[in-house]
Amino acid sequence: MREACLEVTDLVAEAIDGVLPARLEAHIDACADCRELLREATRLSDAIHDAGDGYQHAHDFEARVLAALDPDGVEPTRPMRRRSADFSP
Ligand SMILES: [Zn+2]
Repeated sequence: MREACLEVTDLVAEAIDGVLPARLEAHIDACADCRELLREATRLSDAIHDAGDGYQHAHDFEARVLAALDPDGVEPTRPMRRRSADFSP
């Protein structure tokens, strides 16, 4: 898996909200794996929104999406809040 793919996976919640850095948006345009990841994640997000009124993304939303996408389970390796330096090229 390429580094950009890992970044997209790590930022999947932001990607659903359309707030990714431009360079990752460009990567997604060129990467079928990431498009598939986002398609599935968006579908799950929509399903969650449809499930009930007043639902808000839980702090572990990203981990839950990743767990749903990967049956083997992926434990988050770091918290949701990140240093803005992570977005530097
Ligand atoms: Zn990718």
